[in-house]
Amino acid sequence: LEYSTVLFERATVERWLGHLTVLLEAMVADETCTLAQLPLLTEPEREQLVHGFNATEAAYPGEALIHELFEQQVERTPEALAVQYEGESLTYAQLNAKANQLAHRLRGLKDASGAPLVGPDALVAISVERSLEMVVGLLGILKAGAAYVPVDPEYPADRIAYMLGDSQAKVLLTQRTLQERLQEAARGDDEGSGEILLLDDEATYAGQPQDNIGRQETGQTSRHLAYVIYTSGSTGQPKGVMNEHRGVVNRLVWMQGAYGLGEEDRVLQKTPFSFDVSVWEFFWTLLNGAGLVMAAPQGHRDAQYLVDVIERAGVTVVHFVPSMLQVFLASVQTGQCVSLRQMVCSGEELPLVLQQRCQERLPSVRLDNLYGPTEAAVDVTWWSCDPAQTEGRVPIGRPIANIRMYVLDEQRQPVPLGVAGELYIGGDGVARGYLNREELTAERFVRDPFSEEADARMYRTGDLGRWRPDGAIEYLGRNDFQVKIRGQRIELGEIEARLAELPAVREVVVLAREAARSEPG
Ligand code: AMP
Repeated sequence: LEYSTVLFERATVERWLGHLTVLLEAMVADETCTLAQLPLLTEPEREQLVHGFNATEAAYPGEALIHELFEQQVERTPEALAVQYEGESLTYAQLNAKANQLAHRLRGLKDASGAPLVGPDALVAISVERSLEMVVGLLGILKAGAAYVPVDPEYPADRIAYMLGDSQAKVLLTQRTLQERLQEAARGDDEGSGEILLLDDEATYAGQPQDNIGRQETGQTSRHLAYVIYTSGSTGQPKGVMNEHRGVVNRLVWMQGAYGLGEEDRVLQKTPFSFDVSVWEFFWTLLNGAGLVMAAPQGHRDAQYLVDVIERAGVTVVHFVPSMLQVFLASVQTGQCVSLRQMVCSGEELPLVLQQRCQERLPSVRLDNLYGPTEAAVDVTWWSCDPAQTEGRVPIGRPIANIRMYVLDEQRQPVPLGVAGELYIGGDGVARGYLNREELTAERFVRDPFSEEADARMYRTGDLGRWRPDGAIEYLGRNDFQVKIRGQRIELGEIEARLAELPAVREVVVLAREAARSEPG
């Protein structure tokens, strides 16, 4: 007994005794109960895990649309810098005017029967390189009442064709240099090609009004789609995740409350727009009067370029997936990047040694670890890294505003504190589902039995985690064959399915093997 009191805290032992009591009572009460069904949690512990750690309710404009909040910001700071790329820039008023012209143009497009091509829940594909036009395009699509589907022009032609076909986007926005390639890809799309508009051609905007379009005209609500982002799919083709304005607005408003961006801030836009991290880079910045600094198209892969652009533009906020943070830190010399104040990591596990290296190299920069899948409006938990932490895992932290996190067993019952289970996400960030994949949607987006709202749903992540006693979550890996390679989400099954199509291949197994991980730097 003396031994155990040294090793375990009193509260832990009491919790275990509580579990034992609950277990024994249940065994006695119902002899037919299977092992898997036997309960462990005491009522107070269950209450804490399900509700206490998830007391995240916070007010936010749940009816608002992303671009409406941008338009309000335009009123406040029309002359402030909104976006810059190399030597070019646009103020808030200029960006708004241009995006409005595009929106009017989009709303004027009709199909053969005269019906508008663009409206609530209609999808508009956009395939452009990082540029001022990229931002005009995204805002223009939202303002026209539609949702955007980012298509990375670097993708192989048949993947682009698949995305255009699957999304059934009737309009594609692109740039002159990419037009030919995309037209070719669009021909591979069985649905037939739709309208193509060039964002770097003045004719696209010519003669269009510059004023905002109200929701009385578009018929939008905050439960309409804002974007559809494709992620890897285990059946061999990517799947489109449908996110609504409400969840994104909640995520953006939470971020402003947590980090307080001001007019003086410069946020680096370097995440490819086909990843949802880019959503906050664009819109958190533009909803709060700060300036967006667009990195060059290939720039996000080049650490030396990133150091240069941060220094040149006085960037204050930047995002990294941990694998790129490692490469970046190796390129930063002491005394460089002094403008930086906030770094955000997400997308894959943040190793403690990397956190330490970051805090050593850039001691005045706050580093946060955020976690979330595309299926839940970008991020759902957050953790401000503690420079004093010297051992253990860097947590992914606590749920953000209006999000509930659950750590559940195979019966979808909460597991005790400290025990590994699958992470489920409930609350306002949960996406509508997968485009054209009803079965998969039903499998991954299930009813949230812990919510009082009858129609509440939760997303089953496939991630493993456990609660710490302080209400933060530790990430413990995956329960399937999804991997991250340099921050890129890949279902190994997608590669297997494509390889299996080759006539010479009978059976195939794809593994992601970790090369001996070198020390950062
Ligand atoms: P994506 O949909 O591309 O954002 O990928 C989501 C997946 O990335 C999650 O389900 C996790 O497996 C992983 N992930 C995201 N953020 C983190 C993090 N901070 N720590 C560990 N894994 C993460």
